[in-house]
Amino acid sequence: MVDNAVSFNCTNCAAPLEIRAQGASQVVACGHCGSVLDAQDPRHQILSRYQSKFTRKPTLPIGRRGTIKGETFEIVGYLERQTRYYGITYDWAEYLLWNPYKGFRWLVEADGHWTFLTTLPNPPKERR
Ligand SMILES: [Zn+2]
Repeated sequence: MVDNAVSFNCTNCAAPLEIRAQGASQVVACGHCGSVLDAQDPRHQILSRYQSKFTRKPTLPIGRRGTIKGETFEIVGYLERQTRYYGITYDWAEYLLWNPYKGFRWLVEADGHWTFLTTLPNPPKERR
């Protein structure tokens, strides 16, 4: 697989950052200061800032490559998500995977369970 990561320093805090999936990435988030930077702008201007940083360390680091169902993917993004339902808070992590020939996939981690997701090219149609 081609390594097309681009290294630069965060425009806000100077932490070392990498843009993975160069050309397909729209933004890159700095895990050190919470800034969201324009991945397509050569000056990497700050688009927004989050007040909170990551609350937990990813189980799998960004940049790690692995094989799922016979295909090699690289972790190019990480999200922490949370929802509240009937007074109970549920949280989970989502890893964005990339293969230049296969596109993007998602790997979701929740309570020690892992789910591999493929985005549908078209929304399902309702049958009546
Ligand atoms: Zn930063």
